[in-house]
Amino acid sequence: MEERIIVGNMKVDMLKEDALHYVETFKGEYNNVVLCPSSIYLNYFMDTKVKLGLQNIFYDGTICTGEITSRQAVSMGIKYVIIGHSERRYYLDESNETINKKVKDAVEHNLGVLLCVGESEEEKENGRADEVIKRQVYTALRGIENIRNVAIAYEPVWAIGTNKLPTNDEIKDKVLLIKKVCKDLLGYENARVIYGGSVNVENVEELNKIEEISGFLIGGASTEPETFEKIIQIINNRQN
Ligand code: PEP
Repeated sequence: MEERIIVGNMKVDMLKEDALHYVETFKGEYNNVVLCPSSIYLNYFMDTKVKLGLQNIFYDGTICTGEITSRQAVSMGIKYVIIGHSERRYYLDESNETINKKVKDAVEHNLGVLLCVGESEEEKENGRADEVIKRQVYTALRGIENIRNVAIAYEPVWAIGTNKLPTNDEIKDKVLLIKKVCKDLLGYENARVIYGGSVNVENVEELNKIEEISGFLIGGASTEPETFEKIIQIINNRQN
C-alpha cells in the first residue's frame, strides 16, 4: 500500500517558546512526515526525526531581499516546499504564473513540491470550482519536466481553518479531476493528490478511507505536537 505523506503546515502559529516545546515533545520517527515551521525556527527542528519543509520559496536567478531560494533550502537539508498556499494567493496576490516559476525552480533543485490548489467559497457557490482548479493545476504545472517530486494539495479555501469539511465523495471528485488535468492536459501519469482543510484528530479516520488520496496537508492540528502525533498514527495505521 502506498505510504501516505503527512505535511504539517505550522503557518505563523508559534513563538520561540512554542517551537522549543514542540521539538522537545515531538519524539516520533516518521519517514512520511514533513514539518513546515516558520523558517526562522527551522534550526530548532533539525534534530527531529522527520523531513522538513518551507512554507514558500523564491525562484533562483532573481535577487529579492527577504526571500529564500531553492538552492539555499537544499543547502540546509530541506526536502520539501509548500507552494501556492491560498493565503499567499489571497494576501500577496500570488498568481498561477508566479507559482509556476516557483514550482519549476524547486523541481529543478530536487525539492519535493506541495502545490496547493482549491476553490473559494464564492467560486464554489457560483459553480466555478472545477474551472478554477483546472486553471490552477494547468498553469502551475505546465512546462515542468516531470512531477515525480510533486504532490498537489486539494485545499478548498472555505475548508481551511473553518471546521467545514467536504464529504469524502466531494474530495474524491476533485482528486479525480486534478489527476485528469495532469494526465489529459499535461501528460503526467499518476499525479499524487493530497487533501488539506480542517483535518483533525476526530475526522481523520473517516477522511483516511478515501482511496484516491496520497496523504494530507494539516494546518492548525499540526501545531500541537501530541495531537499531531495522534493524527499521524491514525493515518499510518491504515498502512499496517
Ligand atoms: C492549511 O492552511 O494548509 C490548512 C490545511 O489549515 P487547517 O488544517 O487549519 O484547515
